[in-house]
Amino acid sequence: MNGLMMDYPLTLAHVLDRAGRYFPKQEIVSRRPDRSIHRTTYGEFHRRAGKLANALRRLGLASGDRVATLAWNHSRHLEAYFAVPLAGGVLHTLNPRLSAQDLAYMVNDADDKIILVDDVLLPVLDKFRSEIRPRHVIVFGHGATPAGALDYEQLIEPQSADFDPGPIDEEQAAGICYTSGTTGRPKGVLYSHRALVLHSLISALPDSIGLSQADVVMPVVPMFHVNAWGLPFSCTMVGCKQVFPGPCLDPPSLLALLAEEKVTCTAGVPTIWLGILETLDKNPGAYDLKALKQMVVGGSAAPPAMIEGYEKRHGLHILHAWGMTEMSPIGTICRVKSQLRSAPAAEQLRLRATQGLPVPFVELRAVGEDGPAAWDGKSMGELQVRGPCIAKSYFQNPAEEDKFTRDGWFRTGDIVTVDPEGYIRITDRSKDVIKSGGEWISSVDLENALMGHPAVKEAAVVAIKHPKWDERPVACVVLKEGQRASEDELRRFLQPLFAKYQLPDAYVFMEQLPRTATGKFLKTALRQQLKDFKFSA
Ligand code: ADP
Repeated sequence: MNGLMMDYPLTLAHVLDRAGRYFPKQEIVSRRPDRSIHRTTYGEFHRRAGKLANALRRLGLASGDRVATLAWNHSRHLEAYFAVPLAGGVLHTLNPRLSAQDLAYMVNDADDKIILVDDVLLPVLDKFRSEIRPRHVIVFGHGATPAGALDYEQLIEPQSADFDPGPIDEEQAAGICYTSGTTGRPKGVLYSHRALVLHSLISALPDSIGLSQADVVMPVVPMFHVNAWGLPFSCTMVGCKQVFPGPCLDPPSLLALLAEEKVTCTAGVPTIWLGILETLDKNPGAYDLKALKQMVVGGSAAPPAMIEGYEKRHGLHILHAWGMTEMSPIGTICRVKSQLRSAPAAEQLRLRATQGLPVPFVELRAVGEDGPAAWDGKSMGELQVRGPCIAKSYFQNPAEEDKFTRDGWFRTGDIVTVDPEGYIRITDRSKDVIKSGGEWISSVDLENALMGHPAVKEAAVVAIKHPKWDERPVACVVLKEGQRASEDELRRFLQPLFAKYQLPDAYVFMEQLPRTATGKFLKTALRQQLKDFKFSA
């Protein structure tokens, strides 16, 4: 027997309407490239998104057409987040930090019909403009628009603010994001309205990110990095104030916005928070961050020394999360279960540095070489996932089907342990694993420990071919400004924490570490830089 509930589709149309109708005075704040502050409200945003949707239809947008954005975090970008899918299009956010070659590949692979671009990012577009064939380029501008392009404000101004999207099937595509391509060609992940709505509901739960209309949320994670982890959707769903930093991502600008707008929740990759921690350490008490309840950190592992530094020195709380483009993206969030909160501080810190527990409707399993890995906190296995917000295949890319198992799971490529409470800990990505004399050595454990040394700013550990042991770990270290530490000192520092065979064979000091366009250590480039490295006899 079926239930007798309405057949009501889960779409972004409802999310936008509710925000505009019930929270019309709620603020949306953006920092412009000239550093001035722009303020608008949900009421105005709702009307402008309606105008943009009408304008897109006028320009001939057909159902399923892809519309790209090349833009920083700001309120106009938020308008596109809703107007494009409501007009029947598919929002394709582009990362301006990628190479022109990758950007051209993505635009052509997605077959983007329209591109919305920030005026300050026109030089990025110019680098691959001749390789792509969009029908229209629309500029989010603050001045003159170049020839051949449309000005955003002029385009939407004459349109009606009333837009009727008509019926939308919840399975209809609403967005597409490409994986960053650290493993092979970038692959498109096609999100449905249903997945984005479910992901918003799941991430707003108190034990997930925990969002209420009373919050003030500032995503530092760019809107082109897996939809800023879904925050523009989930924040609009709950109707909270949103704060967008625009292109000004230096620590003092971010700290000023956090303080002035009384932000309660912010989110970004560890690189951003390491920079902010250094600034706070140098200027303790300079910023009033009393309103800030949590800083969500994901994209790469949050080093325990950073979690502890924020907590002890500044009373700020890091919430560690793990996810993937293929997962919309949130997979796990680390909150300490209530019955574990009486554990000693060191144990709680250890726990908080893990990637945590799966959010509802994400199923996890760790598959070791001989079947499921035991929940003992030691046995390693490949993390596989399934759920309603997880990709079942890639956009036009059947060659990648080995990422999906025959029994319907997605292979994350992350190697994890699971502790008896179910907390997962990522020890490596499968392509970064160090295999020495038949044993796996976790590069992430070594990196976290090294980043606990007071002189170390960043550390990445990579596998280097070794004549006897197959591979051995080599640590690449960036020291903090004005600090010193010798190879011997770092070795002595790690000694009590690891078995002898796990310790790096060598330490290479660098000015900076190569990074991907989303701020992760680019280990392929490090291995390439060290390809002629010789171990001393
Ligand atoms: P890409 O796979 O192209 O790097 P994603 O942004 O989808 O792009 O990255 C997902 C990967 O990032 C995960 O598979 C994992 O390896 C890594 N990652 C994300 N969050 C964390 C985290 N909190 N700790 C460790 N690794 C993480």
